[in-house]
Amino acid sequence: MADVIIVGGGLAGTVVASRLHQRKPALTIVLIEAGPDPTGHAHVDNPAEASLLHFSDLDYQYFTTPQQNLDGKSKYNCGAKSLGGGSVINNGGWIRGDAHDYDDWARDVGDARWSYEGLLPYFKRSEKHFDSGAEPLQHGFDGPVHTASVSSTGRRYPLRDTTLNLWSQLDLPHIHDLNDGRPQGISDLVENWRDGKRQIAPSMYPLEGVRVLTETLVRRVIMDEKKTTTGVELDTGETINLKEGGQVVISAGAYRTPQVLMLSGIGDATQLSQHGIPLTVDLPHVGQNLHDHLMVHRYWKLRHPEKGLAIGSPLFSGPNYGKGGPIDFLVRAPIPAEPLKAAIERDDGPVSDDHPLLNGPRTHLEMLLLYVVFGTEDQGLTIPLDGRSVTTMFMGCLPTSRGSVTLASTDPADHPVIDPNYYATEMDRHVMREGWRMQSRVIFETQEGREMFEREHTPPGFPVLGTDASDEQIDARIRMAGSTVYHPAGTSAMGSVVDGSLRVFGTQGLRVVDAGVIPKPLAAHYQAPVYAIAEQAVDIILDECFP
Ligand SMILES: Cc1cc2nc3c(=O)[nH]c(=O)nc-3n(C[C@H](O)[C@H](O)[C@H](O)COP(=O)(O)OP(=O)(O)OC[C@H]3O[C@@H](n4cnc5c(N)ncnc54)[C@H](O)[C@@H]3O)c2cc1C
Repeated sequence: MADVIIVGGGLAGTVVASRLHQRKPALTIVLIEAGPDPTGHAHVDNPAEASLLHFSDLDYQYFTTPQQNLDGKSKYNCGAKSLGGGSVINNGGWIRGDAHDYDDWARDVGDARWSYEGLLPYFKRSEKHFDSGAEPLQHGFDGPVHTASVSSTGRRYPLRDTTLNLWSQLDLPHIHDLNDGRPQGISDLVENWRDGKRQIAPSMYPLEGVRVLTETLVRRVIMDEKKTTTGVELDTGETINLKEGGQVVISAGAYRTPQVLMLSGIGDATQLSQHGIPLTVDLPHVGQNLHDHLMVHRYWKLRHPEKGLAIGSPLFSGPNYGKGGPIDFLVRAPIPAEPLKAAIERDDGPVSDDHPLLNGPRTHLEMLLLYVVFGTEDQGLTIPLDGRSVTTMFMGCLPTSRGSVTLASTDPADHPVIDPNYYATEMDRHVMREGWRMQSRVIFETQEGREMFEREHTPPGFPVLGTDASDEQIDARIRMAGSTVYHPAGTSAMGSVVDGSLRVFGTQGLRVVDAGVIPKPLAAHYQAPVYAIAEQAVDIILDECFP
C-alpha cells in the first residue's frame, strides 16, 4: 500500500517522487517507470552523443501519422523510455521562455499559480544558476540543476564575433540573461550540462527512500464507484494499491499520459467505446490539443573553412569545447503585428488588437546557428562532416496548429496514434515564412552574411530561394524540411483535463504532472518549465493531501 503512486519515472515523475520523499519522509512513495535505469548506458553521460540514443532501447521511436501539411510524411519523434525520461536523451538546452506565455496560461485557467510570477519560485528552486552575480529575483543559486552559458564554460568559438554581428543585423539587442522572462534578443545559449556531462533527473533529484520499479509498465488507474482512485494495475495484471486518501500522479509524458487515462476509462466516450473500454469519466479533451514546436534546418557552405570554423575540421578544437553544444547564441524575436494579425484573421475571422498572440509583443521565433551539420539525410542531402559547412535553425514558438493522441489498441505497450497536425494554420505558415525570410535576409543581403557563407546547400530538386521568394516556394521547402523540436505538450491540458491543482476533472485522488498539462505553447524548451511545474506540483500535493 502506498501514499503516492507515480506513473512514469521520467523528468517530472522523478522530481515529484524525490521532493515528496525529501519533504515528507514518512510517506510511502512508489515510482513506476516503463524503461530501464540508464546508469552505465552508453552515450547517456555525454550529451554531445544524444543523437546516438535515437532509435536505441531508450527511445520509444515514435512515428506520427502521415502529416498532411508536411507532404504527407510520417515524422520520427524521439521519446525517452528510461528512468529520468527526457533528461536522459535531450540536448540540454535550458530555456525558460517568455513571461507573457505563462501569464496568458494563468489568465486562461484563472489561476495565478501558473503565471510567470507564480512559477518563478519553482524555476528558482530547480536551478543552480551559473552566474552568482545574476539577479536573485530571477534566479536560484542552490537548486539541483546546474546551468551554464557558453561564456561561463570558457568556450570561445572562432565564429563567435562574426555570428553576433550577423544576428545583430536583425536589429535585436544583445541581451545577457536568456532566462529572466524577457528573452527577446540575442543571448548566449544556456544549457544544463555540468562540466560537459549530462545531468539526469534521478542524479539531481535522488530517489533513495522511494520504491522505484523500472521496466514496469502501468496499464491503468483503478477507481471505485465514487471515482476515487484506489491504485494502479500493471500490464502483468498485478495491482499496487493506495492507502486511503492517497494519490496517483500520472507523469507518463504528453504521449503516454492520455493513453493511461483512456485505458482507465477517462476520455472521450465514443473513442473508449470503440475500444470496448468501460467509461469512468467522459472527458473528451483527453489526448486532444497536442501542440509541438516545428523547426527547419538550413545548411550553408562557409566561405573560409580553412580557418577551422566548424566540427569536422581538425582545427576546430578548444580547451572547453566539450562543455556544451557547438552553438554560441540563441536569437528570439517578435514579428510585425499587422501581417500577423491578418494571418490570424484568415484562420479565425476578425480579431482585436489585444488578441493574446499580438500583445506583448510575444516571442514568435527562435533561431540559432550550429557550427556543425546534422540531420541532413532528412532533406535528402549528403554533406560531409568536414568543417566546411554549418547549420541554421528556426522554430515557430507559439504555433496554433493542434493535433491529437488517440488509442491504437488497448495494449499499453502499443504506441498511441500521434497526429501533431503540424503546420496546419495560416498563422503558423506566416510565422515560419517570417523565420525563413529573416534568415535569408541576414545571410544573402548583408555584408556579414556574404562574407561568412559561400552558398546554401539546397535539397535535391529545390532551387536556392532569394529574399524575393514567394510564399508558395517557401512553404514547399518548409513542408519538405519541417521537423519536431521534441516538445509535445498539451494533451492533458490544464483547464480541460486537469484543474489548477493538476487534479483530473471528475475524479478523486488522481493528478497529472508532466508536459501534457501545458495548455498552450510556450516560447521555451520544455525541460525548464517541466522541472518548475513538477516542483510546484509537490507543494500543491503536500498542501492539499498531506499537510
Ligand atoms: C530528443 C529530445 C531532445 C530534447 N531536447 C531538449 C532540450 O534541449 N531542452 C529542453 O528544454 N527540452 C528538450 N526536450 C524536451 C524535454 O526533455 C521534455 O519536455 C521533458 O522530458 C518532458 O518531461 P515529462 O516528464 O513530461 O515526460 P518524460 O520525461 O518523457 O517522461 C515520461 C516517462 O513516463 C514513462 N512512461 C510512459 N508510459 C508509462 C507507463 N504506462 N508506465 C510506466 N511508465 C511510463 C516513460 O517511459 C518516460 O520515462 C527534448 C526531448 C527529446 C525527446
